[in-house]
Amino acid sequence: ASYRRIAETDTSIQAFLTLNEEGARAAASELDNQLQQGGERGLLFGLPAGIKDNIVTEGLLTTCASQLLRNYDPIYSGTAVKKLSAAQSITIGKLNMDEFAMGGSNENSSFYPTRNPWNTDYVPGGSSGGSAASVAAGQVYFSLGSDTGGSIRQPAAYCGIVGLKPTYGLVSRFGLVAFASSLDQIGPLTKNVEDSAYVLQAIAGYDEMDSTSANVEIPDYVGALSGDVKGLRIGVPKEYLGQGIDPKVKEAVLAALKQFESLGATWEEVSLPHTEYAVATYYLLASSEASSNLARFDGVRYGVRADDPDNLIDLYRKSRSQGFGDEVKRRIMLGTYALSSGYYDAYYLKAQKVRTLIKQDFDNVFNNYDLIIGPTAPTAAFRIGEQVGDPLTMYLNDICTIPVSLAGVPAISIPCGFADGLPVGLQIIGKAFDERTVLRAAHAFE
Ligand code: GLN
Repeated sequence: ASYRRIAETDTSIQAFLTLNEEGARAAASELDNQLQQGGERGLLFGLPAGIKDNIVTEGLLTTCASQLLRNYDPIYSGTAVKKLSAAQSITIGKLNMDEFAMGGSNENSSFYPTRNPWNTDYVPGGSSGGSAASVAAGQVYFSLGSDTGGSIRQPAAYCGIVGLKPTYGLVSRFGLVAFASSLDQIGPLTKNVEDSAYVLQAIAGYDEMDSTSANVEIPDYVGALSGDVKGLRIGVPKEYLGQGIDPKVKEAVLAALKQFESLGATWEEVSLPHTEYAVATYYLLASSEASSNLARFDGVRYGVRADDPDNLIDLYRKSRSQGFGDEVKRRIMLGTYALSSGYYDAYYLKAQKVRTLIKQDFDNVFNNYDLIIGPTAPTAAFRIGEQVGDPLTMYLNDICTIPVSLAGVPAISIPCGFADGLPVGLQIIGKAFDERTVLRAAHAFE
């Protein structure tokens, strides 16, 4: 059914880069055999899943939507993918994205842009745009995405589905092609909150292969969905409903808060005073980390190697010039500049300090509130092409998701209405490792 649906819809949506039809059918009959022989059903038994193309999958191309990796065939699978297999879900294929997860519209894919299933003239968001569009179009039951500054939550919002960025360290990054290692997290994109809890249950947990993996007890996420939010204290940052937020988005968020009130929660306006510095801080830190992480793509170790180099340096230069797209080059140059001696203290070190202030903003609010709620993005989806060539406007789309990433705390985006016929996302932010409260509130609302 999944492949039939893809055949029907993906010529217009273009969510997939690679399909795994043979592998998926083999995995499905293997599950069937196991069941016939009296085996138990796994947590995600038989559920068709799509995987963002920056998570490595053994024997299945993993391109990061980059020309540089267009032939990269990994020899192992990431931990999250292995955990999905262990839970008996089936990998349907690999999903389109902005190249190396840099972007917010899928227009930075070096292959083709994915389109928003609600209206194919519009972007699905990004960078996990393929992951969001595929779930919204009913091609897969759920997908995995990655979120560095909003890349799960923002496309979930634009496509009218549920996207969860877990606490930094909760889901192993082993096998996730690194963009900005101190921010990257894998998480589920699903049709509803219950599914999100199930997928998180399957992929969360300590992994010795990831040195930043948190060694914490994994609670019962599904069991947290009690439907009860009585007495929950919600803080609503005034910075998330001020300038630059589309009035229709604001209206939808305020209506959602009313609904929380009617369910017995309370809310008050709070302040995250360093929000105005978050976008600058993020683009400095993320680009710096990216410039270091992407140094490994030298034309020798992975992917495509340029023809006819004059010498070794020329081989690196040609492979990288030909392999990387404009946005990736922009970030590598920005990051290299910020990390270079003489500029390090003024930019990178300063940004690290501001990151701490942003995290403290969250700590202060969480001293008095259980959750922070606001919009996921300042607007609903925009038209394909509308923001191309204007990277600064594109960067500002992440104003509500980036601070959360810098603080490392969990957040979910759930649908909360429409603006001009396109879905609006509500962002529910929790304390570190308190995904249970985030999921419980989201579930009660939906
Ligand atoms: N849009 C942001 C960026 O371009 C976020 C990307 C992400 O979370 N991977 O960096």
